[in-house]
Amino acid sequence: MIPFSKLLAEVGRLKTCLLFAPLGSSSHFTKACLSSKISKHHERNILLMGPPGAGKTCVGQIVGHRLGMPVIDIDDDVLEKTWRMSVSDKLFEVGGERFIEEEGQAVCNFTATGSVISLTGSNPLHMDAMQHLKRSGLVLYLDVDIEDIMLRLSRMKVNRIIGQDTGISMREILQYRKQFYEKWLDARVLCGTGDSVEEVADKVLRTLGRYEDSESETFVSTRSLESSQNDVATTDPKFFSDVVVEGLAPDGGLYIPKKGFPKLEPSEWLRIADLPYASRALAILENCIHPMDVSAVDLSAMVHRAYGRNFASQSVVPLKHLAENQYILELFHGPTASFKDLALQLMPQLFAHCLPQMCNYLILVATSGDTGSAVLNGFRNLKDSDRERIGVLVFFPEKGVSEIQKLQMTGFQDRNARSASILSDFDFCQRTIKRMFGDSSLTGHIAVEYATVLSTANSINWARLLPQVVYHCSAYLDLLRNRVLTFGDPIDVCIPTGNFGNAMSALYAKQMGIPIRKVICASNHNCVVSDFIASGKYDLSGRKLLVSNSPAIDILKSSNLERFIHHASDGDGGLVRDLFLNLERDQFFKVPEALRQKIHLDVQAGWSSEVDCLRAICEVHARTGYIMDTHTAVGKVVADHLHDRTCPLVICSTAHHGKFAPAVLKALRCPDIPQDPVKQLEKLCTIGGREQMHDALLKCLRNSGNHLHKVCPADFSVLADEVETMIQDSFLKV
Ligand SMILES: *Cc1c(COP(=O)(O)O)cnc(C)c1O
Repeated sequence: MIPFSKLLAEVGRLKTCLLFAPLGSSSHFTKACLSSKISKHHERNILLMGPPGAGKTCVGQIVGHRLGMPVIDIDDDVLEKTWRMSVSDKLFEVGGERFIEEEGQAVCNFTATGSVISLTGSNPLHMDAMQHLKRSGLVLYLDVDIEDIMLRLSRMKVNRIIGQDTGISMREILQYRKQFYEKWLDARVLCGTGDSVEEVADKVLRTLGRYEDSESETFVSTRSLESSQNDVATTDPKFFSDVVVEGLAPDGGLYIPKKGFPKLEPSEWLRIADLPYASRALAILENCIHPMDVSAVDLSAMVHRAYGRNFASQSVVPLKHLAENQYILELFHGPTASFKDLALQLMPQLFAHCLPQMCNYLILVATSGDTGSAVLNGFRNLKDSDRERIGVLVFFPEKGVSEIQKLQMTGFQDRNARSASILSDFDFCQRTIKRMFGDSSLTGHIAVEYATVLSTANSINWARLLPQVVYHCSAYLDLLRNRVLTFGDPIDVCIPTGNFGNAMSALYAKQMGIPIRKVICASNHNCVVSDFIASGKYDLSGRKLLVSNSPAIDILKSSNLERFIHHASDGDGGLVRDLFLNLERDQFFKVPEALRQKIHLDVQAGWSSEVDCLRAICEVHARTGYIMDTHTAVGKVVADHLHDRTCPLVICSTAHHGKFAPAVLKALRCPDIPQDPVKQLEKLCTIGGREQMHDALLKCLRNSGNHLHKVCPADFSVLADEVETMIQDSFLKV
């Protein structure tokens, strides 16, 4: 028999190796081999791809000149030389289909290194040719709007393009081709309407620079003493994939991008404004996630999976006019009816991508609210190969969540996504999970027996915050598209705030160049955050949570606030660390007066009483027929109170009203509120009409009556067994 101490040491080693080695080594491994491909600078080609009329040839010449690299045009320098005839003669001779094949063959027989190569518009349609080209360098996609292309082609008197048979319009062909460009790109060069070739060439050079300099897009802790100005790193650089897997920084702080957020140009925003939500998300996120961490092609697949079919509204987050200059940004059309779906449909995919392949992961989550169902649904929607190695187990207090939230959690269960309720409070659920992480005999056993690592996915994870930046941008772009404003005009946003994630992501949208003037944070009578913003004092001493109608913003410790203080103090990690250590020790901190005033440049805050919240729901319904949920109503009350009405105001609607049905029915003065959640929704349906109902929510509640949910005693060993059973059921193949 192996002595126990040896076994423990063995387990410890294995754990260390499972937990750390693959993370560090895998991400550094890929980076190292990718950057070695790139460091052979003089050999690698720069390939410019795009539709006819995108400017590949002209841009290629400028880029080649600036970089001192030879320039090759596939049309002139490869095809015409090979065929000894003009491309148009060849096309006339052999016809479209044959042409693409012969063009592909010619490209396969061609090699070059260290050159700027302008492809033809049809190269990407030939698989072998593209594989051959892609191996030789970086493919940059000059992504020009189709309408701009149409205009340019008509000016160039081009009236037919390759592949265009009779009966198919040029626009259709260009639209069809897009999928091929999206398939082969290494990086996108987003071209705005009216960009000159010089401007596009500048963008190409910037894109190349970014691609090559992966080391510069690193993350630091909010408590790091390294200033963002000086570049001497004292610790290993942390990349996107590292911070997604780690969650919390080792010093207890939260990760933030060292260089802040990239800024997009007005012409780029105008271009994005014409795109549907998923494409907007992709264009924005490509700028925030380095392609070495998640390639453009992988990111595209994730974003389309996240925002494709899972949202009931075509526009994903529709913006509705409420009254005067107030607009409602409906963030609740996802599968679980709260804004958390916007982050949690994408986050699990980013997480799965960043986790090393060699072990299984079980994510443990404690929840007393909307997070549970959103997490379950997000992980359930992972692709099959990821579902086999990544699962989530949610613990919630049997009596600490609403009836509807409970039905949602039990309704979304699956092989890799389960929940268990506990006969105790939220605190116990959270403590139990912490204890499991710290219990080396449990974690060691799970590592050795099942090659499984326990992990978390909480609201401070960078991959949860980042997707939220997109919808704040999207709201502004909708106002732009509907001509409520022209680019550059300011807006204010009002956000019912708890952990400050949603509010923080609005401030990041502002950093990216969206002209958000003020972020107005709204609290209910648990108003520790709005008191802080008014007074500069964060004071938890003697505070107890009061019962409210908007439980998702009942908060004492607002976790993302740390990121905000870091942001407002221009990255003063020492100050942040002192303040939050004070908070742990004394339940209190106070920021310097200068910082308090600086905070007010970006943020305002107020709170709504319970009475005002319910009254707002009733009044808005009476006046407009629109039914707000209780959190949205808190936002509306605070907005009415604080907004100066000199610019449009976007109120974030963070949940569908059906999710908080009893309070909403009470607000609407419904005489006899039914007990049954399904009946409550049906009642709301008769008041608001079918078009305001959330179909997925209603369907989930109707079905989940058939699911049993497991109720566990408040006993550590029972819950540890629950963890092990779940691992056996989810990860071990029979
Ligand atoms: C989670 C939640 C909030 C709070 O969001 P934060 O990003 O933590 O401020 C607000 N409203 C609803 C409905 C929620 O579920």
